[in-house]
Amino acid sequence: MAFELPDLPYAYDALEPVISKKTLEFHHDKHHAAYVNNLNNLVKGTEFENASLIAIVNSSEGGIFNNAAQVWNHTFYFEQFDKNKQAKPSGTLADAINQTFDSFDEFKDKFSTASKTLFGSGWAWLVKKNNGSLDIIQTSNANNPIREGYIPILTCDVWEHAYYLDYQNKRPDYISNFWNIIDWEVISRRY
Ligand code: MN
Repeated sequence: MAFELPDLPYAYDALEPVISKKTLEFHHDKHHAAYVNNLNNLVKGTEFENASLIAIVNSSEGGIFNNAAQVWNHTFYFEQFDKNKQAKPSGTLADAINQTFDSFDEFKDKFSTASKTLFGSGWAWLVKKNNGSLDIIQTSNANNPIREGYIPILTCDVWEHAYYLDYQNKRPDYISNFWNIIDWEVISRRY
């Protein structure tokens, strides 16, 4: 019943030059893999040994939570990229973004600011609330919006390991390029 590291849904060089092959090799094969391995070791002999990943994210604390949430967050992050898709959302998601943030550009600005200003390690998220409205939130470290009852739609990993090999200290450059690889078909399905 061990958790397994999902393969990347594209080649390691598929997101270049926004995210390099080298970054994906470390980010997926080392960081994401380590969270999976840590989780498998930590749940042994606990009440979570046979639980689903989402059940663990919803109800654990401490090291088990940190590693389970990081497994979930990274799978969610890696699934949302494809360099060759349309550059903007369409349909009901586009309508909801325009309704909440006035325009797609305004939404991008607000999400980028949330990503840039998050202090330390963490994640920026576009979420859907229970009433169907959208919001942008920041979470520290492994935390994610699921525990707060929100549905995650889009995320930006702003842990340094996500961008340091390509951008060093220039987190804003990583974030401005991040928009060029979003697969809005995936994001729309989540909405
Ligand atoms: Mn990461």
